[in-house]
Amino acid sequence: MTTMNTGVQHLEKAASTACTMANNFLAPVKTEQQIYENSMLEDDPNANSVITTTKTLPDDRTVPRWGPNHKGARELANLYSTGKRTQECICVGICITLMAVNSFFIVIRLRLENLSSIVISALCGIVTADFISGLVHWAADTWGSVELPILGKNFLRPFREHHIDPTSITRHDFIETNGDNFMVTIPALCKLTWDFLTLPEPEIQQRFLWSCYWWQLAIFVAMTNQIHKWSHTYFGLPGWVVWLQEHRVILPRRHHRVHHVAPHETYFCITTGWLNWPLEKLRFWYILETIIESVTGYKPRADDFKWAQKRS
Ligand SMILES: [Zn+2]
Ligand SMILES: [Zn+2]
Repeated sequence: MTTMNTGVQHLEKAASTACTMANNFLAPVKTEQQIYENSMLEDDPNANSVITTTKTLPDDRTVPRWGPNHKGARELANLYSTGKRTQECICVGICITLMAVNSFFIVIRLRLENLSSIVISALCGIVTADFISGLVHWAADTWGSVELPILGKNFLRPFREHHIDPTSITRHDFIETNGDNFMVTIPALCKLTWDFLTLPEPEIQQRFLWSCYWWQLAIFVAMTNQIHKWSHTYFGLPGWVVWLQEHRVILPRRHHRVHHVAPHETYFCITTGWLNWPLEKLRFWYILETIIESVTGYKPRADDFKWAQKRS
């Protein structure tokens, strides 16, 4: 009898441990309360720039913690220069031309019999784009500073601005939103075009699935910041974009809110967002940061934190 009771007790204990583990594993990465208290309310245009740490600093209510009136956000917005704008215009022009040329070369070679392998290689391209978006976003958010020569003002500045004024992206035009992402795809698209123009047809056919992979990868890398902009747009989005967001084909709005909970340490993937949950469960970003901090001694997000503090 005693043995049976002990057995039941063991079973109950194991069941409760399993339940706790399952609850921890499936718990939301950020709770509704964390989202409400530590991120900007982008779907409420009347309140989105006055959220403050009301409990601890009652007299600080008028100083915006986020939004276009944040002092640091204004300073960063003013650093957008004519030179930078020119670089973005050139990159957008080159990228769109290369994209059109490569699309032509690929579409004329599409055959019904290789459709399934084309879809698989295209899907791999999309997953890779999501991972790259996370890696680049994480690196820019976490390390470096706006004071770094060339890189800081031109490429890290938008990331700092985006955390303290998340809706500024919705006020950026097509060029400012997409210039940098279009730029990074240019070398791969050049190589693809070069291969299509110079290789003999049998070799092009042999490499065709790889070409489809690189083509989809380039398209989704180029589209990433546009998709990201849509994830911050709560008003006036076309119905088909909302449909794609709600069916998780592209980054959904509620999903991306998790990244915008201060201190912005997770959910960095912003193309489809498919990899965010698994990477969070693997503690991928945290492990990477711990290794880099122990090797270099640099604190993650030190510059991001400094800009967040420039409130008045
Ligand atoms: Zn970020
Ligand atoms: Zn964002």
